[in-house]
Amino acid sequence: MTTEPETICFIGLGTMGREMAINLMKAGHRVQAYDVRHEAVDNLAAQGAQPCRSIAEAARNASIAITMLPDTPDVESVVYGDGGLLANPPKGRIVVDMSTIAPNAVRRMSAEFESAGIDFLDAPVSGGPSGAKNATLSIMVGGKAEAFARANKVFAGMGTTITHVGASGAGQTVKLCNQLICGINIQAICEAIALGRASGVDLHQLRNVLLGGSAASWMLDKLGPAMIEGDAKAGFRIDLMLKDLRLVQEQAQAFAVPLPATALVTSQYIEARAHDEGGNGNQALFRVYDRMTNRL
Ligand code: NAD
Repeated sequence: MTTEPETICFIGLGTMGREMAINLMKAGHRVQAYDVRHEAVDNLAAQGAQPCRSIAEAARNASIAITMLPDTPDVESVVYGDGGLLANPPKGRIVVDMSTIAPNAVRRMSAEFESAGIDFLDAPVSGGPSGAKNATLSIMVGGKAEAFARANKVFAGMGTTITHVGASGAGQTVKLCNQLICGINIQAICEAIALGRASGVDLHQLRNVLLGGSAASWMLDKLGPAMIEGDAKAGFRIDLMLKDLRLVQEQAQAFAVPLPATALVTSQYIEARAHDEGGNGNQALFRVYDRMTNRL
């Protein structure tokens, strides 16, 4: 163990949260786990976490509370709802949201927490399920520098690139820039694979060659094989990316920044969801190209 153990309240044990909580335990911390899905809690208890049936129980005596939830309303309900974190803060009076949510909502929550004498950080992550599993996430943090300094040793159990990027909401803003690049990059990869397939080249070889040159990307590396093999199994769901692209566009409108490429890829994600792909992984964006080339 490289650090003093903390007692951590962890709320949201889905694709990402489960692995992050396991890594916190591997780093020597105690985890008090809560999720609306009891099976997720019980599953983590089998890995050594303290199972909790309410937010208040998970926060009790914790030095820090972490949330990893799908969308803004989910985080708001865990914060403001009956028995939520605002009324039942952790003993250490610091709350960190690591979900990807709206920067404006983050700033509102931060102000509410501050008036109650509680520090709040937005700390969204990049690196996907593999980054969560291997504790190699990039964590972009907004909020007060003192709170960041206190939470840093906990972040160290989950990620390798941990950066304080500014005041409250700045973490989410950086994450939205990240998502914009990811979405457009996924679309570019779909187009390359669609063209390669129609032209009859070996697609695995195409990917390998591209990974060795200037078109290499994380998405090509991680999602390319599943795209080529038609494996739509979720990792990062289409629905979650659509949520992120909506947040990007809200931010762009607020600051009057035209984002034409983001608008185009958002339309394709909407098309994918209309074909019931919302629960599939982002690689299933390629099925839009299957449909456009009459391959399905
Ligand atoms: P997920 O849907 O797999 O997990 C969310 C968990 O939150 C679920 O277990 C759900 O039961 C739980 N939950 C929902 N509402 C709740 C509530 N009110 N109280 C307690 N628990 C509740 O989502 P995920 O893929 O783990 O993503 C979580 C967040 O991280 C999202 O904001 C997502 O955009 C972001 N993110 C995801 C990835 C990825 O690759 N999956 C990567 C980076 C960031």
